[in-house]
Amino acid sequence: MDYVKLINCMRCGMCLPHCPTYKETFLETASPRGRVALVRKVQEGELDQSERLLEYLSLCLDCQACASACPCGVNAGELVAEFTCERKGAQGLGFMEDMILRQLVPHPDRLESSMVPMRAYQKTGLQKLVRKLGILKMFPKPLERMEGLLPELPKRPLRQEIREITPAVGKERGTVGFFLGCVMSLIFSEASRATIQLLSSLGYRVITPKNQVCCGAPNMLGGDLEGLKSEARTNIDIFSGYDVDFIVTDCGGCGAELKKYGHHFEDDGKAAAFSAKVRDISQLLAMHSDELQAMLKPLDLQVTYHDPCHIAHCQGIRSQPRQLLKLIPGLQYRELAEADACCGSAGTYNIAKPEMSDRILQRKLDNIRASNAEVLVTSNPGCLLQLKKGLADQLPEVKLMHLTELLAKSLAG
Ligand code: SF4
Ligand code: SF4
Repeated sequence: MDYVKLINCMRCGMCLPHCPTYKETFLETASPRGRVALVRKVQEGELDQSERLLEYLSLCLDCQACASACPCGVNAGELVAEFTCERKGAQGLGFMEDMILRQLVPHPDRLESSMVPMRAYQKTGLQKLVRKLGILKMFPKPLERMEGLLPELPKRPLRQEIREITPAVGKERGTVGFFLGCVMSLIFSEASRATIQLLSSLGYRVITPKNQVCCGAPNMLGGDLEGLKSEARTNIDIFSGYDVDFIVTDCGGCGAELKKYGHHFEDDGKAAAFSAKVRDISQLLAMHSDELQAMLKPLDLQVTYHDPCHIAHCQGIRSQPRQLLKLIPGLQYRELAEADACCGSAGTYNIAKPEMSDRILQRKLDNIRASNAEVLVTSNPGCLLQLKKGLADQLPEVKLMHLTELLAKSLAG
Protein backbone atom coordinates (compact mmCIF):
# COMPACT_ATOMS: atom_id res chain seq x y z
CA MET A 1 0.00 0.00 0.00
CA ASP A 2 1.23 3.50 -0.86
CA TYR A 3 1.89 5.10 2.55
CA VAL A 4 1.88 8.61 1.01
CA LYS A 5 -1.81 8.21 0.16
CA LEU A 6 -2.49 7.69 3.87
CA ILE A 7 -0.51 10.63 5.15
CA ASN A 8 -2.15 12.95 2.60
CA CYS A 9 -5.18 13.10 4.89
CA MET A 10 -5.02 16.40 6.78
CA ARG A 11 -8.03 15.45 8.95
CA CYS A 12 -10.14 18.41 7.81
CA GLY A 13 -13.37 16.39 7.98
CA MET A 14 -14.81 17.71 4.70
CA CYS A 15 -15.57 14.13 3.68
CA LEU A 16 -17.68 13.38 6.75
CA PRO A 17 -21.07 14.77 5.63
CA HIS A 18 -20.74 12.79 2.39
CA CYS A 19 -20.08 9.39 3.94
CA PRO A 20 -23.27 7.27 4.17
CA THR A 21 -22.08 5.26 7.19
CA TYR A 22 -21.01 8.38 9.08
CA LYS A 23 -24.34 10.05 8.31
CA GLU A 24 -26.09 7.08 9.92
CA THR A 25 -23.85 6.66 12.97
CA PHE A 26 -21.90 9.89 13.59
CA LEU A 27 -19.03 7.64 14.67
CA GLU A 28 -15.46 8.60 13.76
CA THR A 29 -14.64 4.91 13.21
CA ALA A 30 -17.40 4.80 10.58
CA SER A 31 -16.08 7.88 8.75
CA PRO A 32 -13.54 8.19 5.91
CA ARG A 33 -11.16 10.16 8.15
CA GLY A 34 -11.41 7.51 10.86
CA ARG A 35 -10.85 4.67 8.38
CA VAL A 36 -7.77 6.33 6.92
CA ALA A 37 -6.43 6.83 10.46
CA LEU A 38 -7.07 3.17 11.34
CA VAL A 39 -5.30 1.84 8.24
CA ARG A 40 -2.42 4.25 8.85
CA LYS A 41 -2.03 3.05 12.45
CA VAL A 42 -1.84 -0.56 11.22
CA GLN A 43 0.76 0.38 8.61
CA GLU A 44 2.79 2.17 11.28
CA GLY A 45 2.64 -0.91 13.49
CA GLU A 46 0.69 0.85 16.25
CA LEU A 47 -2.50 -1.19 15.81
CA ASP A 48 -3.08 -4.93 15.38
CA GLN A 49 -5.43 -6.32 12.76
CA SER A 50 -7.98 -7.27 15.42
CA GLU A 51 -11.51 -8.55 14.70
CA ARG A 52 -12.84 -5.22 15.94
CA LEU A 53 -10.67 -3.22 13.55
CA LEU A 54 -11.67 -5.41 10.61
CA GLU A 55 -15.32 -5.00 11.59
CA TYR A 56 -14.97 -1.20 11.55
CA LEU A 57 -13.34 -1.28 8.12
CA SER A 58 -15.84 -3.76 6.71
CA LEU A 59 -18.63 -1.24 7.24
CA CYS A 60 -17.19 0.88 4.41
CA LEU A 61 -19.27 0.60 1.21
CA ASP A 62 -16.38 1.59 -1.06
CA CYS A 63 -18.83 4.08 -2.56
CA GLN A 64 -16.03 6.69 -2.89
CA ALA A 65 -18.28 9.64 -2.05
CA CYS A 66 -15.43 10.65 0.27
CA ALA A 67 -13.03 10.83 -2.67
CA SER A 68 -15.35 13.21 -4.52
CA ALA A 69 -15.39 15.50 -1.47
CA CYS A 70 -11.75 15.35 -0.37
CA PRO A 71 -9.65 18.42 -1.26
CA CYS A 72 -6.42 16.40 -0.86
CA GLY A 73 -7.29 13.60 -3.26
CA VAL A 74 -7.56 10.99 -0.51
CA ASN A 75 -9.77 8.05 -1.43
CA ALA A 76 -10.66 6.31 1.84
CA GLY A 77 -12.86 3.71 0.12
CA GLU A 78 -10.07 2.68 -2.24
CA LEU A 79 -7.53 2.59 0.61
CA VAL A 80 -9.77 0.29 2.65
CA ALA A 81 -10.28 -1.93 -0.42
CA GLU A 82 -6.50 -2.05 -1.06
CA PHE A 83 -5.89 -2.91 2.60
CA THR A 84 -8.43 -5.77 2.36
CA CYS A 85 -6.85 -7.01 -0.87
CA GLU A 86 -3.38 -7.07 0.66
CA ARG A 87 -4.65 -8.90 3.74
CA LYS A 88 -6.55 -11.45 1.64
CA GLY A 89 -3.55 -11.81 -0.67
CA ALA A 90 -1.36 -12.77 2.29
CA GLN A 91 -4.02 -15.10 3.75
CA GLY A 92 -5.15 -16.73 0.52
CA LEU A 93 -8.77 -17.32 -0.50
CA GLY A 94 -11.04 -19.56 1.55
CA PHE A 95 -12.74 -22.57 -0.07
CA MET A 96 -16.04 -20.78 -0.80
CA GLU A 97 -14.30 -17.63 -2.01
CA ASP A 98 -12.19 -19.73 -4.36
CA MET A 99 -15.28 -21.54 -5.65
CA ILE A 100 -17.13 -18.28 -6.34
CA LEU A 101 -14.33 -15.94 -7.45
CA ARG A 102 -12.12 -18.38 -9.38
CA GLN A 103 -14.35 -21.30 -10.41
CA LEU A 104 -17.62 -19.47 -11.15
CA VAL A 105 -17.27 -15.73 -11.83
CA PRO A 106 -14.65 -15.90 -14.65
CA HIS A 107 -16.68 -18.50 -16.60
CA PRO A 108 -19.78 -17.08 -18.34
CA ASP A 109 -21.06 -20.59 -19.21
CA ARG A 110 -20.95 -21.69 -15.57
CA LEU A 111 -22.55 -18.44 -14.42
CA GLU A 112 -25.37 -18.97 -16.89
CA SER A 113 -25.84 -22.60 -15.80
CA SER A 114 -25.99 -21.49 -12.18
CA MET A 115 -29.06 -19.39 -12.99
CA VAL A 116 -31.04 -22.30 -14.50
CA PRO A 117 -32.44 -23.50 -11.13
CA MET A 118 -33.41 -19.91 -10.26
CA ARG A 119 -35.26 -19.56 -13.55
CA ALA A 120 -37.08 -22.83 -12.93
CA TYR A 121 -37.89 -21.66 -9.38
CA GLN A 122 -39.62 -18.60 -10.84
CA LYS A 123 -41.23 -20.12 -13.93
CA THR A 124 -42.85 -23.04 -12.07
CA GLY A 125 -44.52 -20.64 -9.63
CA LEU A 126 -42.52 -22.05 -6.73
CA GLN A 127 -41.15 -18.60 -5.88
CA LYS A 128 -44.65 -17.14 -5.47
CA LEU A 129 -45.66 -20.05 -3.24
CA VAL A 130 -42.49 -19.87 -1.14
CA ARG A 131 -42.95 -16.12 -0.64
CA LYS A 132 -46.66 -16.47 0.15
CA LEU A 133 -46.06 -19.14 2.77
CA GLY A 134 -43.08 -17.28 4.26
CA ILE A 135 -40.98 -20.44 4.03
CA LEU A 136 -37.77 -18.44 3.59
CA LYS A 137 -37.99 -17.23 7.19
CA MET A 138 -36.86 -20.74 8.14
CA PHE A 139 -33.63 -20.35 6.13
CA PRO A 140 -30.47 -18.40 7.09
CA LYS A 141 -30.94 -14.61 6.82
CA PRO A 142 -28.43 -14.08 3.95
CA LEU A 143 -30.32 -16.61 1.83
CA GLU A 144 -33.63 -14.94 2.59
CA ARG A 145 -32.22 -11.55 1.58
CA MET A 146 -30.66 -12.91 -1.62
CA GLU A 147 -33.98 -14.43 -2.62
CA GLY A 148 -35.80 -11.18 -1.83
CA LEU A 149 -33.48 -9.25 -4.16
CA LEU A 150 -33.99 -11.58 -7.11
CA PRO A 151 -36.13 -9.88 -9.78
CA GLU A 152 -37.95 -11.69 -12.56
CA LEU A 153 -35.31 -13.26 -14.78
CA PRO A 154 -35.37 -13.02 -18.57
CA LYS A 155 -36.04 -16.21 -20.55
CA ARG A 156 -32.41 -16.46 -21.59
CA PRO A 157 -29.19 -14.52 -20.85
CA LEU A 158 -28.60 -11.84 -23.48
CA ARG A 159 -25.17 -13.29 -24.32
CA GLN A 160 -26.91 -16.37 -25.73
CA GLU A 161 -29.37 -14.33 -27.80
CA ILE A 162 -27.51 -11.46 -29.43
CA ARG A 163 -25.39 -11.66 -32.51
CA GLU A 164 -21.69 -10.98 -32.19
CA ILE A 165 -22.01 -8.18 -34.76
CA THR A 166 -24.98 -5.80 -34.88
CA PRO A 167 -24.79 -3.66 -38.03
CA ALA A 168 -25.22 0.11 -37.97
CA VAL A 169 -28.57 1.49 -39.03
CA GLY A 170 -27.97 3.76 -42.04
CA LYS A 171 -24.55 5.25 -42.72
CA GLU A 172 -21.88 3.69 -40.52
CA ARG A 173 -19.97 6.24 -38.41
CA GLY A 174 -17.72 3.82 -36.53
CA THR A 175 -17.37 0.58 -34.61
CA VAL A 176 -17.74 0.01 -30.92
CA GLY A 177 -16.95 -3.03 -28.80
CA PHE A 178 -19.73 -3.70 -26.32
CA PHE A 179 -18.73 -4.94 -22.89
CA LEU A 180 -21.72 -6.95 -21.74
CA GLY A 181 -21.67 -7.12 -17.93
CA CYS A 182 -22.49 -10.50 -16.34
CA VAL A 183 -25.47 -9.23 -14.33
CA MET A 184 -26.71 -7.15 -17.24
CA SER A 185 -26.73 -10.25 -19.44
CA LEU A 186 -28.20 -12.57 -16.81
CA ILE A 187 -30.80 -10.28 -15.25
CA PHE A 188 -31.16 -6.89 -16.97
CA SER A 189 -30.93 -8.13 -20.53
CA GLU A 190 -33.62 -5.73 -21.81
CA ALA A 191 -31.49 -2.75 -20.80
CA SER A 192 -28.42 -4.04 -22.65
CA ARG A 193 -30.55 -4.90 -25.66
CA ALA A 194 -31.71 -1.26 -25.60
CA THR A 195 -28.08 -0.10 -25.37
CA ILE A 196 -27.12 -2.03 -28.51
CA GLN A 197 -30.21 -0.71 -30.30
CA LEU A 198 -29.35 2.92 -29.44
CA LEU A 199 -25.75 2.52 -30.58
CA SER A 200 -26.79 0.90 -33.82
CA SER A 201 -29.48 3.57 -34.45
CA LEU A 202 -26.78 6.23 -34.08
CA GLY A 203 -24.73 4.58 -36.83
CA TYR A 204 -22.35 2.40 -34.85
CA ARG A 205 -21.52 -1.17 -35.77
CA VAL A 206 -21.59 -2.98 -32.42
CA ILE A 207 -19.28 -5.92 -31.74
CA THR A 208 -20.12 -7.97 -28.64
CA PRO A 209 -17.41 -10.63 -28.30
CA LYS A 210 -19.09 -13.72 -26.88
CA ASN A 211 -15.94 -14.94 -25.17
CA GLN A 212 -15.48 -11.85 -22.98
CA VAL A 213 -15.46 -12.56 -19.25
CA CYS A 214 -16.39 -10.76 -16.04
CA CYS A 215 -14.71 -7.35 -15.60
CA GLY A 216 -13.20 -8.51 -12.30
CA ALA A 217 -15.14 -6.19 -9.98
CA PRO A 218 -16.41 -9.09 -7.81
CA ASN A 219 -12.79 -10.26 -7.40
CA MET A 220 -11.72 -6.79 -6.33
CA LEU A 221 -14.58 -6.71 -3.82
CA GLY A 222 -13.51 -10.10 -2.51
CA GLY A 223 -9.89 -9.00 -2.18
CA ASP A 224 -8.75 -11.26 -5.04
CA LEU A 225 -6.36 -9.09 -7.05
CA GLU A 226 -4.84 -12.09 -8.83
CA GLY A 227 -8.27 -13.22 -10.08
CA LEU A 228 -9.08 -9.69 -11.21
CA LYS A 229 -5.83 -9.46 -13.20
CA SER A 230 -6.47 -12.77 -14.89
CA GLU A 231 -9.93 -11.65 -16.08
CA ALA A 232 -8.57 -8.24 -17.09
CA ARG A 233 -5.87 -9.89 -19.20
CA THR A 234 -8.45 -12.08 -20.97
CA ASN A 235 -10.67 -9.09 -21.78
CA ILE A 236 -7.76 -6.93 -22.94
CA ASP A 237 -6.57 -9.68 -25.32
CA ILE A 238 -10.08 -10.30 -26.68
CA PHE A 239 -10.97 -6.66 -27.36
CA SER A 240 -7.50 -5.88 -28.74
CA GLY A 241 -8.30 -8.36 -31.50
CA TYR A 242 -10.96 -6.00 -32.90
CA ASP A 243 -10.50 -2.61 -34.49
CA VAL A 244 -12.93 -0.58 -32.40
CA ASP A 245 -13.18 3.17 -31.76
CA PHE A 246 -14.62 2.75 -28.26
CA ILE A 247 -15.37 0.03 -25.74
CA VAL A 248 -18.82 0.79 -24.36
CA THR A 249 -20.59 -0.52 -21.30
CA ASP A 250 -23.96 0.20 -19.73
CA CYS A 251 -22.90 -1.16 -16.34
CA GLY A 252 -21.44 1.44 -13.97
CA GLY A 253 -19.49 -1.12 -11.95
CA CYS A 254 -17.93 -2.70 -15.05
CA GLY A 255 -17.04 0.70 -16.53
CA ALA A 256 -15.24 1.78 -13.36
CA GLU A 257 -13.25 -1.46 -13.30
CA LEU A 258 -12.44 -1.51 -17.03
CA LYS A 259 -11.07 2.03 -16.80
CA LYS A 260 -8.61 0.81 -14.15
CA TYR A 261 -7.06 -2.01 -16.23
CA GLY A 262 -4.27 0.35 -17.35
CA HIS A 263 -3.48 1.06 -13.71
CA HIS A 264 -3.40 -2.66 -12.80
CA PHE A 265 -0.82 -3.37 -15.53
CA GLU A 266 1.62 -0.51 -15.32
CA ASP A 267 3.90 -0.08 -18.38
CA ASP A 268 1.58 -2.27 -20.45
CA GLY A 269 0.58 -0.30 -23.54
CA LYS A 270 -2.16 -2.74 -24.51
CA ALA A 271 -3.88 -2.41 -21.12
CA ALA A 272 -3.57 1.39 -21.18
CA ALA A 273 -4.99 1.51 -24.74
CA PHE A 274 -7.91 -0.68 -23.68
CA SER A 275 -8.78 1.56 -20.71
CA ALA A 276 -8.44 4.72 -22.78
CA LYS A 277 -11.18 3.46 -25.11
CA VAL A 278 -13.70 2.63 -22.37
CA ARG A 279 -16.83 4.80 -22.23
CA ASP A 280 -19.97 4.62 -20.17
CA ILE A 281 -22.93 4.51 -22.54
CA SER A 282 -24.07 7.95 -21.32
CA GLN A 283 -20.73 9.45 -22.39
CA LEU A 284 -21.01 8.11 -25.91
CA LEU A 285 -24.69 8.95 -26.38
CA ALA A 286 -24.13 12.49 -25.07
CA MET A 287 -21.54 12.97 -27.85
CA HIS A 288 -24.39 12.61 -30.33
CA SER A 289 -27.12 14.44 -28.41
CA ASP A 290 -28.31 16.50 -31.41
CA GLU A 291 -28.88 13.43 -33.61
CA LEU A 292 -30.41 11.52 -30.73
CA GLN A 293 -32.78 14.35 -29.86
CA ALA A 294 -34.04 14.42 -33.44
CA MET A 295 -34.95 10.72 -33.16
CA LEU A 296 -36.65 10.78 -29.75
CA LYS A 297 -40.43 10.89 -29.40
CA PRO A 298 -42.43 12.41 -26.53
CA LEU A 299 -42.88 10.70 -23.19
CA ASP A 300 -45.20 12.40 -20.74
CA LEU A 301 -43.40 11.29 -17.57
CA GLN A 302 -41.96 12.76 -14.39
CA VAL A 303 -38.51 11.27 -14.07
CA THR A 304 -35.70 11.42 -11.54
CA TYR A 305 -32.16 10.01 -11.61
CA HIS A 306 -30.09 8.17 -9.00
CA ASP A 307 -26.33 8.50 -9.59
CA PRO A 308 -24.64 5.11 -9.15
CA CYS A 309 -21.45 5.53 -7.08
CA HIS A 310 -19.48 3.71 -9.78
CA ILE A 311 -20.59 6.28 -12.34
CA ALA A 312 -20.63 9.55 -10.35
CA HIS A 313 -17.80 9.05 -7.85
CA CYS A 314 -15.59 6.47 -9.58
CA GLN A 315 -15.90 7.82 -13.14
CA GLY A 316 -16.92 11.44 -12.51
CA ILE A 317 -19.92 11.16 -14.82
CA ARG A 318 -22.82 13.31 -13.62
CA SER A 319 -24.04 15.66 -16.33
CA GLN A 320 -24.39 13.24 -19.27
CA PRO A 321 -27.22 11.03 -17.93
CA ARG A 322 -29.22 14.14 -16.94
CA GLN A 323 -28.50 15.79 -20.29
CA LEU A 324 -29.80 12.68 -22.10
CA LEU A 325 -32.98 12.47 -20.04
CA LYS A 326 -33.72 16.14 -20.75
CA LEU A 327 -33.53 15.42 -24.51
CA ILE A 328 -36.76 13.42 -24.33
CA PRO A 329 -39.64 15.69 -25.41
CA GLY A 330 -42.40 16.02 -22.80
CA LEU A 331 -40.33 14.51 -20.01
CA GLN A 332 -40.31 16.49 -16.78
CA TYR A 333 -37.02 16.01 -14.99
CA ARG A 334 -36.97 16.25 -11.18
CA GLU A 335 -33.63 16.35 -9.41
CA LEU A 336 -33.36 13.87 -6.55
CA ALA A 337 -32.11 15.10 -3.17
CA GLU A 338 -28.76 13.47 -2.33
CA ALA A 339 -28.85 11.91 -5.80
CA ASP A 340 -25.22 10.76 -5.64
CA ALA A 341 -25.52 9.14 -2.20
CA CYS A 342 -25.09 5.37 -2.21
CA CYS A 343 -28.28 3.25 -2.21
CA GLY A 344 -26.72 0.64 0.11
CA SER A 345 -26.22 -2.05 -2.53
CA ALA A 346 -22.39 -1.98 -2.88
CA GLY A 347 -21.80 -5.43 -4.33
CA THR A 348 -22.70 -7.94 -1.64
CA TYR A 349 -22.87 -5.31 1.14
CA ASN A 350 -26.67 -5.54 1.22
CA ILE A 351 -26.31 -9.23 2.12
CA ALA A 352 -23.27 -8.93 4.41
CA LYS A 353 -24.35 -5.79 6.27
CA PRO A 354 -28.17 -5.88 6.12
CA GLU A 355 -28.86 -3.42 8.92
CA MET A 356 -26.67 -0.60 7.62
CA SER A 357 -27.70 -1.31 4.03
CA ASP A 358 -31.38 -0.97 4.98
CA ARG A 359 -30.79 2.32 6.78
CA ILE A 360 -28.99 3.77 3.77
CA LEU A 361 -31.67 2.48 1.41
CA GLN A 362 -34.42 4.02 3.55
CA ARG A 363 -32.85 7.46 3.17
CA LYS A 364 -32.76 6.98 -0.61
CA LEU A 365 -36.41 5.84 -0.71
CA ASP A 366 -37.50 8.85 1.38
CA ASN A 367 -35.80 11.14 -1.14
CA ILE A 368 -37.41 9.31 -4.08
CA ARG A 369 -40.83 9.71 -2.44
CA ALA A 370 -40.20 13.43 -1.94
CA SER A 371 -39.30 13.85 -5.62
CA ASN A 372 -42.82 12.80 -6.69
CA ALA A 373 -41.32 11.11 -9.74
CA GLU A 374 -43.16 8.36 -11.60
CA VAL A 375 -39.97 6.84 -12.97
CA LEU A 376 -36.59 6.40 -11.31
CA VAL A 377 -33.68 6.01 -13.71
CA THR A 378 -30.24 4.62 -12.91
CA SER A 379 -27.49 2.68 -14.73
CA ASN A 380 -25.87 0.10 -12.53
CA PRO A 381 -27.10 -3.46 -11.91
CA GLY A 382 -26.35 -3.36 -8.17
CA CYS A 383 -28.46 -0.21 -7.76
CA LEU A 384 -31.19 -1.69 -9.97
CA LEU A 385 -31.40 -4.80 -7.76
CA GLN A 386 -31.40 -2.85 -4.50
CA LEU A 387 -33.82 -0.15 -5.63
CA LYS A 388 -36.18 -2.61 -7.30
CA LYS A 389 -36.63 -4.38 -3.98
CA GLY A 390 -36.95 -1.11 -2.04
CA LEU A 391 -39.51 0.35 -4.45
CA ALA A 392 -41.53 -2.89 -4.56
CA ASP A 393 -41.76 -2.83 -0.75
CA GLN A 394 -42.47 0.85 -0.22
CA LEU A 395 -43.18 2.74 -3.46
CA PRO A 396 -44.69 0.25 -5.92
CA GLU A 397 -46.14 3.12 -7.97
CA VAL A 398 -42.62 4.24 -9.00
CA LYS A 399 -41.22 2.42 -12.03
CA LEU A 400 -37.50 1.69 -12.15
CA MET A 401 -35.66 1.80 -15.49
CA HIS A 402 -32.13 1.73 -16.80
CA LEU A 403 -31.21 4.92 -18.68
CA THR A 404 -31.02 3.12 -22.03
CA GLU A 405 -34.40 1.43 -21.51
CA LEU A 406 -36.09 4.81 -21.13
CA LEU A 407 -34.22 6.28 -24.12
CA ALA A 408 -35.14 3.25 -26.25
CA LYS A 409 -38.77 3.63 -25.18
CA SER A 410 -38.69 7.22 -26.38
CA LEU A 411 -36.95 6.11 -29.58
CA ALA A 412 -39.75 3.64 -30.27
CA GLY A 413 -42.42 6.25 -29.48
S1 SF4 B 1 -9.98 12.14 3.79
FE1 SF4 B 1 -9.74 14.15 2.81
S2 SF4 B 1 -11.64 15.28 3.32
FE2 SF4 B 1 -11.49 13.53 4.72
S3 SF4 B 1 -10.45 14.32 6.53
FE3 SF4 B 1 -8.84 13.46 5.22
S4 SF4 B 1 -8.15 15.19 3.96
FE4 SF4 B 1 -10.10 15.82 4.87
S1 SF4 C 1 -16.10 4.80 0.52
FE1 SF4 C 1 -18.14 5.52 1.14
S2 SF4 C 1 -18.58 4.41 3.03
FE2 SF4 C 1 -16.36 4.20 2.67
S3 SF4 C 1 -15.43 5.88 3.80
FE3 SF4 C 1 -15.77 6.65 1.73
S4 SF4 C 1 -17.80 7.65 1.78
FE4 SF4 C 1 -17.63 6.35 3.63
